[in-house]
Amino acid sequence: MGKVILITGASSGIGKDAALNLIKQGHIVYGAARRISKMKDIVEAGGHSIKMDILSNEDIDRAVDQVISEQNRIDVLVNNAGYGLWGAVETISVDEAKRQFDVNIFGLAYLTKKVIPLMRNQKSGKIINMSSMGGKVYTPFGAWYHATKYALEGWSDCLRIELKDFGIDVILIEPGVIKTEFQDVMMDSTVERSIGTPYEKKLKALEKATQEMYARGIGSPPSTITKLIIKAINSHNPKRRYVGGLFAKPMLFIKKWFGDKMYEKAIMSQIKKATKE
Ligand code: NDP
Repeated sequence: MGKVILITGASSGIGKDAALNLIKQGHIVYGAARRISKMKDIVEAGGHSIKMDILSNEDIDRAVDQVISEQNRIDVLVNNAGYGLWGAVETISVDEAKRQFDVNIFGLAYLTKKVIPLMRNQKSGKIINMSSMGGKVYTPFGAWYHATKYALEGWSDCLRIELKDFGIDVILIEPGVIKTEFQDVMMDSTVERSIGTPYEKKLKALEKATQEMYARGIGSPPSTITKLIIKAINSHNPKRRYVGGLFAKPMLFIKKWFGDKMYEKAIMSQIKKATKE
């Protein structure tokens, strides 16, 4: 029987791909995002779209109430909406950093809090949180983004233990580099912010390397992550973490088994190479 699934960030990238494939599998899918016009294909495929800014508690309340009034249950919540704020810590305002946390952590947490009582009453449910390999490893100029994903890892681990006895699973997905709109959003105003600062040259080189990398088509397709989401949904005993996508497994391996020092050497030499090319 189809499960009722609410997935955030469904207007693009991983969320859209997952929503469309979950509909194909016979599930009742509600996609949520700010850009409702970008979710027409979800509706055409037989799903539902809900306009929701994760920064708005009213939007979240309305979205969850709508799913409950139409389906009377939510079996799976996929907390996928998010973005990457990149730049030197010195050049990013605390307000921008707070917004990064509001979207990637506090909005997600508000939505999750809203869904938990329902899942608790159902005595079942799955909360799938889209973390990142960046929830375990770090890259230059990604301080605020990594801080949110490191936070999500710890938050989700604690929540898993809290909710276990209620029949609710909390699952983390840790993607590597995936070809989506993420990279455009990530580099948006990053260089502008650095102009005239000691970081300008490095950030311009990083932007160029990122653009060239994506122009060469580097990155896994979103379907790589959709497969992991489907695995987690279909499993009676899901893993705590699913890892997939370009660079994710080797990066996590190096950091875990060779330590921070070797990891930093490896990442910085790759970045130096990319920014020289
Ligand atoms: P995209 O930029 O393609 O998609 C991001 C989605 O998040 C969009 O649907 C966007 O919808 C939504 N979103 C952003 N801000 C808000 C907001 N304020 N309110 C509601 N929705 C919002 O990127 P991805 O598909 O790659 O990203 C999905 C998740 O995967 C993110 O959490 C990201 O951190 C994670 N990830 C991505 C990786 C990658 O390489 N692509 C690697 C590791 C993790 P809209 O703008 O319409 O609101």
